[in-house]
Amino acid sequence: MESLPTVLLKPGEADRILAGHPWIYHGEILRLTAQVGDGELVQVKDHRQRLLGTGFYNSKSKINVRLLSPERITPNEAFFEERIRTALSVRQKHMPGATSFRVVNAESDFLSGLIVDKYEDVLVVQISSLGMERRKKVIIPALQAIFSPRAIFERSDVASRKFEGLEEANGLLVGEHNGPMAVNLNGLKFETDLVGGHKTGMYLDQQANYQAVSQFAKGGQVLDCFSFLGGFGLHAARAGATHVHLLDQSADAIEASKRNAANNGLAGGCSFEAINVFDWLKANTAVKPHERVVPRFDLIILDPPSFTRNRASVPDALRGYKEIHLRALKLLKPGGTLATFCCSHHVSTELFQDTLLSAAYDTRHVLRRVATYAQSPDHPIIPMIPETEYLKGFAFELVR
Ligand code: SAH
Repeated sequence: MESLPTVLLKPGEADRILAGHPWIYHGEILRLTAQVGDGELVQVKDHRQRLLGTGFYNSKSKINVRLLSPERITPNEAFFEERIRTALSVRQKHMPGATSFRVVNAESDFLSGLIVDKYEDVLVVQISSLGMERRKKVIIPALQAIFSPRAIFERSDVASRKFEGLEEANGLLVGEHNGPMAVNLNGLKFETDLVGGHKTGMYLDQQANYQAVSQFAKGGQVLDCFSFLGGFGLHAARAGATHVHLLDQSADAIEASKRNAANNGLAGGCSFEAINVFDWLKANTAVKPHERVVPRFDLIILDPPSFTRNRASVPDALRGYKEIHLRALKLLKPGGTLATFCCSHHVSTELFQDTLLSAAYDTRHVLRRVATYAQSPDHPIIPMIPETEYLKGFAFELVR
């Protein structure tokens, strides 16, 4: 351990690290005490030689060091097994009974560059840093020791790998699995494509919110916008909605959500449309001069993809958010509920709420906030690491 190369930080750069943030940027480094190969383990010290932690080095990345621990550690199979077991126990505590969930959420679990999702008895890993890529040979056995999974897939087809000097990678690593997978969320089955689906197959981060939002559905007309596999819509149907209409521009997603409705015995109360939500909302709120839109929904869910990937595109994204809220509010009955989500890290909770209040102002509606939402607890938020917080949502009742 004594022979570990040391990364010395410039004066004044240690505070964020001491507070628990795991990234060290190139510009914060004073010097290296020895030559370090990319992907290798280093120790990090402040300019007074006080140990700040150990982590993986990569000169190619803007993030030169991703810390794993404030202490000296050896990132072997035993280390990963212990870390992953700790992460698993957080999920078991906060999501008792769940059988599909994110086991490891990178920085949220102090494993920057590693994501592990559990879909019933199959695991999907996503590796986005060189350090983790090099340790795949100890990470996979650690996962096998903990879960004895039927199969492990890799879904490292993320663009961010190129910033680490890595190619995209996809495929079966262990075991056997073919075709779609039946994933159980809150007692409903969702057919999921682990090989080609969004993210690592589906949006596990909404699992708790599907259930929470469905409490507003009983006896009502429901509109699920950006429905994907039908997560919100089918939970609403099960909760006793009179009817649920699901909208997604992807014909494949709509077909999958139809099968999901049928497999859960909910097809009777659902209708589906493969269409652009902006177009649908526009067409359904278009009126002649002096006519008014007749509100017809008791619950409208808006869960769009992130309209922005960077800070520069935030104004455009806000215009998009405002537009869908404006039109959705026109279709919502008085006393009805608008459940709305924003998954962009670059749009803060305050900014998101301001945007929808500005839509309410334009339509002269008054809203009562009845719930606030965040990502499910298997995507833990570490406030000292702001990058771990991205999904926010609200339920608003239409007062008038
Ligand atoms: N509510 C879903 C997640 C939505 S992800 C869930 O919980 O699983 C975003 C979805 O929006 C994707 O399925 C994508 O096909 C769809 N989408 C993106 N832009 C769209 C648009 N303009 N109109 C309709 N659907 C859109």
